[in-house]
Amino acid sequence: GRLSDSALPSLPSEVLVPAYDRASITPGIVHLGVGAFHRAHQAAYVDACLAAGESDWGIIGVSLRSPDTRDALAPQDGLYTLAIRDSAGEQLEVVGSILSLLVAPENPDAVLAALTDPRTRIVTLTITEKAYLRAADGTLDGAHPDIVHDLANPGSPKTAHGFLAEALARRRAAGTPAFTVLCCDNLPANGATLHRLLIEYAKLRDSRLIRQDDAGLIRQDDARLARQGDADLARHIADDVAFPSSMVDRIVPATTDADRARVAQQLGLEDAWPVMTEPFRQWVIEDRFPAGRPAWEKFGVTMVEDVGPFEDMKLRLLNGAHSGIAYLGLLSGHATVDRAFADPSIRQFVDWLWAEAIPTLPQDAGLDPIPYTAELADRFSNTALAHRTAQIANDGSQKLPQRIVASALARFEAGLLPEHLSLVVAAWIAACAARGKTLPEGHFTDPLDAALADLFSRNLPTAQMTAAVFDLAGFAKGHPERRKLIEFVATHLVHFKQGGPKVAFAALGIG
Ligand code: NAD
Repeated sequence: GRLSDSALPSLPSEVLVPAYDRASITPGIVHLGVGAFHRAHQAAYVDACLAAGESDWGIIGVSLRSPDTRDALAPQDGLYTLAIRDSAGEQLEVVGSILSLLVAPENPDAVLAALTDPRTRIVTLTITEKAYLRAADGTLDGAHPDIVHDLANPGSPKTAHGFLAEALARRRAAGTPAFTVLCCDNLPANGATLHRLLIEYAKLRDSRLIRQDDAGLIRQDDARLARQGDADLARHIADDVAFPSSMVDRIVPATTDADRARVAQQLGLEDAWPVMTEPFRQWVIEDRFPAGRPAWEKFGVTMVEDVGPFEDMKLRLLNGAHSGIAYLGLLSGHATVDRAFADPSIRQFVDWLWAEAIPTLPQDAGLDPIPYTAELADRFSNTALAHRTAQIANDGSQKLPQRIVASALARFEAGLLPEHLSLVVAAWIAACAARGKTLPEGHFTDPLDAALADLFSRNLPTAQMTAAVFDLAGFAKGHPERRKLIEFVATHLVHFKQGGPKVAFAALGIG
């Protein structure tokens, strides 16, 4: 048998199931990027709202790329199992908040229909850092082929930018109030960042529409939209659409076949794609929802005016340490976070990394980093999760700026040194260069892989190579301390070349 609505009554009693009638739920949220993280985080919070009777906040899950999640979940009526694991054991919960799933490349019209449905009042996103299509200087990469495609084909977009802009234009033309856009990716000031990128995208779109109009090339429906003021979509998005920032936290490793088998055995049914996670979860959201929102605050969400301090603490302490553990773990032969964290040298390194990052955090936020890092140490030690270092290692060029480089630069600005922070950048470069040598080819990936491989093949002197990597990734672009940071990273890289993490650690007095 397979997990489905009709199979719910037959599940073992220790498995939690949706405590509401799913047939009575209507959609209120469209989620772009219905991967593992969304299903362990936002969808679980929404599940609690639905169980409490807020029945008009069901989720329509959208994949912008692969049909894999839809293929797994559609035959299960959108149901899946959340396996919450720690050393004490495992709790299984079947989540019912995802009502249906769409695959954008197969049917962009269906996605636009969901986005323009007046019942849709919030659009959430977890599409990974790289999907925001930022150029090295942080602005929208207007030359990206998918952006070029979407500007030329606004009615059948590929990118999140294209879908959001087209949907907001259609809602405006139809007199439907705008939805609120709630970014849940690990970007700095994620809502404000997406807002800025979408305004840039809409400006390109507006100027194209005006040019078409001038040239008399405008299509019938475009002409209608243009008459109704669509040519200033950018202004509409800037003035009338809310993009609250949010801090999201829950560790969600990629599901393995062993996880599937174990969950199936406990359910007595097959679940094609259960999601693994830890007991801890946190969501801090800026409270700007002009189109309404679920009463999240009743279910453990912290609603605030400014998410900035929470976000800095999380990106710099949790994600920063995660990246350090990932690259140093890979270079030291550790496949999972808990094993890397149990390595005394890495553990010592992370403690010193935290000590370096903490003084860069806002002092006035009323947040105490000491209990926070103590709790992180417990979470990283969770042996039941088996969070793979190679998973966290993906897309370092997109992640390190907000996790590591920002705090390193803040140290310089304060007259302090970033010896441990800079070592994480060096470990990233060393791990990238180790693929196809001491690490398997393609063990993790990065949007810069082709450019990095080309650079590594040129055998430049270390300092020059490091500067070239900084250029490619846009690290510290235009910052007065860029040069000094490059020197620190290059020094660590020389140590890595001499003898791996052992020599790099020894230079810091570790080991
Ligand atoms: P996942 O691989 O399970 O899912 C990623 C989703 O993003 C999929 O729907 C995929 O189709 C989509 N996607 C990937 N590349 C894309 C692209 N170029 N354009 C458009 N869509 C794309 O990963 P996940 O664990 O769900 O993590 C997704 C994001 O969630 C992370 O990048 C991060 O920003 C955030 N997050 C994850 C965790 C975690 O522990 N996994 C924790 C906090 C935040």
